[in-house]
Amino acid sequence: MTIQWFPGHMTKARRQIEDKLKLIDIVIELLDARVPLSSRNPMVDEILKGKPRMVLLNKYDLADSQLTAEWVRYFAEQGLKALPIDAATGTNVKEILPRAKELWAHKIEAQLRKGVNPRAVRALIVGIPNVGKSTLINQLAGKKIAATGDRPGVTKGQQWIKVGTEMDLLDTPGILWPKFEDQMVGLRLAATGAIKEELLHMDEIAFFVIKYMVKHYGAALQERFGIAELPEDLDDPNEVVKVMEAVGRKRGAIVSGGKVDLDKASLIIIRDLRAGKLGRITLEVPGEL
Ligand code: GDP
Repeated sequence: MTIQWFPGHMTKARRQIEDKLKLIDIVIELLDARVPLSSRNPMVDEILKGKPRMVLLNKYDLADSQLTAEWVRYFAEQGLKALPIDAATGTNVKEILPRAKELWAHKIEAQLRKGVNPRAVRALIVGIPNVGKSTLINQLAGKKIAATGDRPGVTKGQQWIKVGTEMDLLDTPGILWPKFEDQMVGLRLAATGAIKEELLHMDEIAFFVIKYMVKHYGAALQERFGIAELPEDLDDPNEVVKVMEAVGRKRGAIVSGGKVDLDKASLIIIRDLRAGKLGRITLEVPGEL
């Protein structure tokens, strides 16, 4: 992801979404199941102005399924139906159409009452960069049409993608910006790969990941890196560094003199987390925020 959001970018992104909102009936808000709140735009309610909406928790394959269930409950309490999906392989993607029709059912019924043939429900996908918008559009279209990868700011003529006969999807998603003010949000987004690495120090992200893993997924951390004992005092940076050193030794991140290369060890931890090699990990717990 290669965009840095400045006020001008946000204003432009917002205008682009507002233009698209005029064309559609319902919004599909895409969040990252590993960080449902940190991957959410802080002004989303205001921007979407009451359009019927569903929430999708993407990258469910990488998230903790028990915590994902808790997040689904969390959104239900706010009146939002959330569905865990894996846009890359298509898990649960078939559930999107029935939910879209449900959101629009009152209009479909009204049209039927008037004797009008109901038209397809028109949908827009919105979400922060890297959350999987293009991947989902491709999955729903059933063929490669939108280019995946990082290409913020790219616009082309608005087109509709037919999802069966009952849903039309705008082929370009609405790009939203994440919440930046909060340092923890930045760390969570960096840990999942949603924001540019150069903006943050690797060791800082690794520190956050280790502390979180020790607290929530200690056994997985021990098993992956062969760590005999986990730190008890997470407020002691030396204890966290000891974990980093264990990782470095296990994976051969050693500089001359036999010392552990902490930058390399940090990178190993972050890459393993993002690739799901530490197991299915969710970095936000509803009750803890
Ligand atoms: P966009 O910027 O929101 O359009 O995000 P992309 O669709 O380009 O996806 C960003 C990255 O996330 C790509 O490397 C995708 O392959 C990956 N990705 C998207 N959905 C999933 C998913 O459900 N699971 C996993 N593991 N990776 C995904």
